[in-house]
Order: sequence, then structure tokens, then C-alpha cells
Amino acid sequence: MAQIPQKIPSILSEKQYQSCILCPRQCGADRTSSRTGYCRCTDRILAARAALHPWEEPCISGQNGSGAVFFSGCTLGCSFCQNYSVSRERFGREISVRRLADIFLRLQDEGAHNINLVTATQYLPSVVKALELVRDRLLIPVVFNCGGYERPEIVRALEGYVDIWLPDLKYYDPALAARCSQAGDYFTYASQAVAQMIAQTGAPVMDENGLLRSGVVVRHLVLPGARTDSIRLLHWMKENLPEGKWLLSLMSQYTPAGEAAAASSEAKAGSGRPCPDLSRRVTTFEYESVLNTAVDLGLTAGYMQQKSSAKEEYTPPFDLTGI
Ligand code: SF4
Repeated sequence: MAQIPQKIPSILSEKQYQSCILCPRQCGADRTSSRTGYCRCTDRILAARAALHPWEEPCISGQNGSGAVFFSGCTLGCSFCQNYSVSRERFGREISVRRLADIFLRLQDEGAHNINLVTATQYLPSVVKALELVRDRLLIPVVFNCGGYERPEIVRALEGYVDIWLPDLKYYDPALAARCSQAGDYFTYASQAVAQMIAQTGAPVMDENGLLRSGVVVRHLVLPGARTDSIRLLHWMKENLPEGKWLLSLMSQYTPAGEAAAASSEAKAGSGRPCPDLSRRVTTFEYESVLNTAVDLGLTAGYMQQKSSAKEEYTPPFDLTGI
């Protein structure tokens, strides 16, 4: 883990829970009371799984797996989320900061190549406190695995706590972001956040086994009916992100889930379809046109899934393992 700052930045202190502005929604909710904000999370950590995870990019999962901690709740709440029960329904068990710190150490003992904080933004004051508790004993990198919808100020404050950033860049179009994630300002924030992450880590650093020690991997999941948005995003990345300083992970694995899956079943039953495009998988034409654009633009540093990768097995069982 990178050298942690001596003092937790005030923007990440537990006081933030009393008037929460941890994510771009900046609800101002007092999460120490029964009144919560958009994410509906209180100041108590909920997590659904903490285990070795083999399905991240090879430089993250390696041979042993990534030490993934799946936090419950989410600041985005995408209608098609593959982890819907955890992100939207907040399935999980309450754990203390001390317990979270112990989980980090246990995953390290089990051989995890890194600690992978999956959707942790809404609990950052607690997560940072847990990292402080193990600062001298945690020897593996810390990965911040997020939807990309982050405040640049928060990303800056996490310098020294996070070694590897694993953000999504989901949408370019505000209307698409509003429809799928109720976040019309998604690109405004995510584009700045990703640029800030890259500025903080510099170029990716790999060890002798091909494992990432520090750097940024920008993920993009191609959505059905949204290939032109994907292509616009790729052009933005080419024009705005510094060459050689980040890796791209292009993903074809979209599977209808959450509200999108519900829309699919409703459509089969002949009723309404709130998300018609998202109720099917991505076609070969859609994915290949995006993939070919990436290649034409020279965005080949990183990973590109094969179209056949659209499998549900990327989603682990959320059964409180390791919590
Ligand atoms: S973390 Fe939750 S409560 Fe805080 S600003 Fe974001 S959505 Fe609102």
C-alpha cells in the first residue's frame, strides 16, 4: 500500500456522515440519523462478501485472486446493475471498522494480490479509518473499484490510500446517464475524476509477474443500443487522457439484470418496458464496432473481452462469505 497520509483529510473524516457530500449527489443527509440520502446508506458499514475474486482483469486477479470486499449500497444505482441485490437492495451484514480492518489482513494472509474495495464511496470515512488501523501491516496494493461517479476532490483526498484505480467510464450522453443511473451529470464528474486518478498514479507499474502495483484501468461496458455512445467515449478518451498513462478494459459481458431484467420479463408478458434497449445482450455487430473503433484509435493498451464473454459467472454469490 502507498504511504498513507499521517492525518485523515477532513473531507474523509467521519463527520462527513452528518452532512454527506461524499459523492457528486451531495445530498447533505445526516446519515447518523434515520434520514439517509440517495444511496440510502447509514454511517454503518454493510458488506455482502469478502473473498478472493478471480474475475477482474488479469493484472488485478493474477493467480490467487483479488481480495474483493463488496460493499452494500451504491451512489449510482444503475438500472442494469449486475450486483443489483447488493447495490440497490443493500443486501449485506453490518460490520465495524475494526472488523473491516481484520478482513483486509485476512485476505492478505489468504494470498490476495490486492485489497479490492468494490463500490466503497458511500463508506469512505470508515474505509479510510480501517486502512489506518492496518497501515503498517497491509503490504499489498489497495484497489478502488468504482462506477466512476466520483468527486475529483474526494479522489484527491484518497491519494496515499489508493494504489490502483479501477473506475468505469459508463456514459458520454447525459440523457443516457439520467435514464440508466439517474445521474445526468455522470460524464461531467467521471471525466474529471478519471483524469485526476491518472494524474495521481502516473503510468501503470507492473511487477515481474504482470500484476499491477499502481495505475489506472478504465473500464467500459458496452451496452445494448448504445454503441454510438461507447464510440463517442472512446474518442474522448483518445483526445483527453494522456497516452501510455492508463489501461483500457473494454467489456462485452453485459447481461440483463436488475430493473433491466425485470423489464425483459415484463416485455415477454406483454406489459410495459421501462428500459427496452437494456433487456437484451449486446449484439456481435455492436460490440465489434466499438472494439474496432478502439483499435483504429490505437487504444490497445489493456484488455478487450471476446464477445463470448457474456456470462453471468462474473458475478460472485453474495452470501456473506468472509463477512
Ligand atoms: S454517499 Fe449517499 S448520502 Fe452521501 S452524497 Fe452520495 S448518495 Fe448522498
